[in-house]
Parts: sequence; C-alpha cells; structure tokens
Amino acid sequence: MSRRDEVLAEMGFSPVWKLRTPTARAEEPVRPQGSWIEIKQAVPACTACGLHKGRTQTVFGVGDEDADWLLVGEAPGAEEDRLGEPFVGQAGRLLDNMLGAIDLARGENVYICNVLKCRPPGNRNPEPDEVAKCTPYLLRQIELIEPKLIVAMGRFAAQTLLNTDASIASLRGRVHRYAGRPLIVTYHPAYLLRNLPDKSKAWADLVFARKTMASL
Ligand code: URA
Repeated sequence: MSRRDEVLAEMGFSPVWKLRTPTARAEEPVRPQGSWIEIKQAVPACTACGLHKGRTQTVFGVGDEDADWLLVGEAPGAEEDRLGEPFVGQAGRLLDNMLGAIDLARGENVYICNVLKCRPPGNRNPEPDEVAKCTPYLLRQIELIEPKLIVAMGRFAAQTLLNTDASIASLRGRVHRYAGRPLIVTYHPAYLLRNLPDKSKAWADLVFARKTMASL
C-alpha cells in the first residue's frame, strides 16, 4: 500500500478502483463506494492502469454535481490533459455550441465527464483494460449525481454504459436505460468534426434527448 493509500485508509477512505474487479461492467451489481471528496482524491492518485504514467493531470469531470443532464465522452485529449477539464478543445467548443442550441450550458444543470480520466497517448482509443479500471469512477459519479438523463457520446461511452458491442448507428434514436435512468446515444463531437454531414443526426439526437427529458 502506498503512503497515500495508507493515509486515505487511516482517514477511512478506500481507493475506489480497489473496490471492484477490473472486469466489472456497468450492469453487474457492483457498488463502488466513496463520497465526492473520496473519489476526487482517489482519481488524481490512481495508478490502476498505465495511463497514469503519461498524464499531466487527471480530468475528473465538470459541472453541476446535482445536474439533471449527464454527458459522457470518451477520454481527455491534449487540451483536456493540459487544463484538467473535459471537452475544452475543438470537440468541446462544438459540444458547447450543441448544448447552447438546446438551451443548455456547461455547468448549468449539466455535468460532463469521460469514461477515462487520463489521456491515452496520441489520442489513441482506450484499451479494454483501461476502460475496465476507470469505469468504477464513472459509475460512482453517476450514483452521486443521480442525473435524470444520460447522453452517451460516442462508442466508448455507449458501449461501456450499455455493456454492448453494438454500433452507435444501431443504438441511436431509442431510449436505453443505465441503472434505470434513461440513456440516449449520440455521436462523439470529435467524430462530428471529421464527419460534418452527421452533425444533423447529432442535432436530432439532442432534440430527442430534450423531448425525453421534458417527458420525465
Ligand atoms: N474527447 C472526449 O471524449 N473527452 C474530452 O474531454 C475531450 C475530447
């Protein structure tokens, strides 16, 4: 046990990632524990996968911790790693514009986080082991926020929370459930930057999400 873990243990805290098996998936009946304070301490100290070696800092999440809306992305990129906040690069500017178009704003009844809290080198895709090790933090964030609706942006968020290998195209346009909460799947903003024609589909997804929220 590291000195930091010893100190946390003396204070009655447990590193969250040690409370789940690495292969645990979203729908398994595993309950990561920890208050906001605990997981905000555990994430920056996390060395559960190799990504900690290359990070400038962890990127925990941003926004209203009592938000009705939770948006989940994939992993920090270079800007996010530098600034410690999710979606602050080009994809983030697109996300902010998309939120604005449905009268939402970062931090106002909206919480934004990622599946991974550390940047994969060269912005490569997350590895399954990294997703498995980091998912407990996301699941605990969801438990603490208790959002009314989750928007999963991109395949890693959707596949992780729905425990499926299905494509984004096949998951869009329906209300899924994560732990009883409505979950809507859309394209990742970074994908939309490379595939401009699909922006209209993402717009339709957000309108669908807004309608779903209004019906709750
Ligand atoms: N892409 C993500 O999935 N998350 C970020 O925070 C930035 C880019």
